[in-house]
Amino acid sequence: MTQKYDVVIIGAGPAGMTAATYASRANLSVLMIDKGIYGGQMNDTAEVENYPAFDSILGPDLAEKMYASSTRFGAEYVFGEVQDVIDHGNTKTVVTDDETYEAKVIVIASGATHRHIGVLGEDKYSGRGVSYCAVCDGAFFKNEDVAVIGGGDSAIEEAIYLANLAKHVTIIHRRDTLRASKIAQKRAFSTKNIDFSWNKQTEAIVGDDEKVTAVKVLDTKENQESIVPASGIFVYVGITPNTQGLNKLGVLDDQGWVETDESMQTKVPGVFAVGDVRKDSIRQIAAAVGDGAVAGKLLFDYIQTLSDSQVEA
Ligand code: NAP
Repeated sequence: MTQKYDVVIIGAGPAGMTAATYASRANLSVLMIDKGIYGGQMNDTAEVENYPAFDSILGPDLAEKMYASSTRFGAEYVFGEVQDVIDHGNTKTVVTDDETYEAKVIVIASGATHRHIGVLGEDKYSGRGVSYCAVCDGAFFKNEDVAVIGGGDSAIEEAIYLANLAKHVTIIHRRDTLRASKIAQKRAFSTKNIDFSWNKQTEAIVGDDEKVTAVKVLDTKENQESIVPASGIFVYVGITPNTQGLNKLGVLDDQGWVETDESMQTKVPGVFAVGDVRKDSIRQIAAAVGDGAVAGKLLFDYIQTLSDSQVEA
């Protein structure tokens, strides 16, 4: 049987949970659907130092606090993987693997996922030395040599986290300048057990029958191959949007990100998008929360216009 809500939110990260707080506080019936634990990427983040009101807070702790806020006014949360979203005008249908929901408004808050590098050995050794989450797996590499691939904020921040656990961290980057923020760079440069391997393209992840032993790299300036020994390889080479099941809505760009205007509204009336899944997002927790607040407030106005048009008719 189809379950009816005013608002169905796809994803329960910071953006989705904030939209849920605003919408449920406005007395709308709200359901958050997530294919994982609420909190999204906050669960994979060690320390958050740039979220207002906290000098420093662990990502999973911030997720818990936001979840408590988001459900306080009656919003519900269920596990489910969205397979399809269909627009019928004033109502929308959301189909998950085992349920069907109807809503007046859909908020896409499904976030993004760490990208794979796509080299030989990556899939084979995934979970056997190759990881995408330093917070989850770093402790397995205490006092060992590890490598981090990438030069963005994620790579550098997680390398600093790993440096507290591992004996040595090598950051393998394909250029000789980092994309990460200056403050993160400064910290990494001054961390004794972090070294950089510049201008190195990752060619393969190698290992024995059981686990990873090294990364094979190519120096793009010298055109020479070499080996970086490591028992843990942490891949942070960017992110891709979680928009599977949303293709038919016509709100995605050619890379799969959702396009919105500044009020978080997509080109389909009643379909909003917030947080990292948005094409123009700066992909910060505080920004995701801001997006959620905008959508959570404006979707109420949209639902009001639906009621007004029914009265007029
Ligand atoms: P990102 O900023 O896109 O950086 C990806 C890094 O991976 C880049 O250095 C890129 O190299 C490298 N890369 C991409 N494809 C590669 C490949 N095939 N082989 C080798 N290297 C490759 O991604 P991110 O670090 O995951 O960050 C995503 C977003 O979240 C960013 O907007 C970031 O600012 C934000 N973020 C913010 C914080 C914070 O503020 N505390 C923390 C984490 C993330 P090039 O530089 O050569 O392109």
